[in-house]
Amino acid sequence: MKAIEELGGPFTVEELTAVVPGVGRATVFRTVKLLLESEVLCRMTLEDGSIRYQLSRGEHHHHLICSECGAISEFSDPELDALIHQNAEIDGFQLDSHSLELYGRCARCA
Ligand SMILES: [Zn+2]
Ligand SMILES: [Zn+2]
Ligand SMILES: [Zn+2]
Repeated sequence: MKAIEELGGPFTVEELTAVVPGVGRATVFRTVKLLLESEVLCRMTLEDGSIRYQLSRGEHHHHLICSECGAISEFSDPELDALIHQNAEIDGFQLDSHSLELYGRCARCA
């Protein structure tokens, strides 16, 4: 947790592994997975396909990702989630989870 706080922004498993000497990548990966499941961390896919993690606000939410400066803001929308569930379940699909990332430019970069 100290290493995660020191990294500050969104990090990759590789970046986190680099700042915890003596801890193997597999252990870091397992820990990240645990923190993800307990909603301490949230996970996002950047536009280039790389996966990053950051401290979560602790409830289900979505991400707005700035392609210029990398700033990430979060939003929750129960109505949108209801719509996603509705759409997924039309053909009997059983939805376990979903994530939503919106890419563009933040107010400062736009
Ligand atoms: Zn988040
Ligand atoms: Zn920006
Ligand atoms: Zn959602």
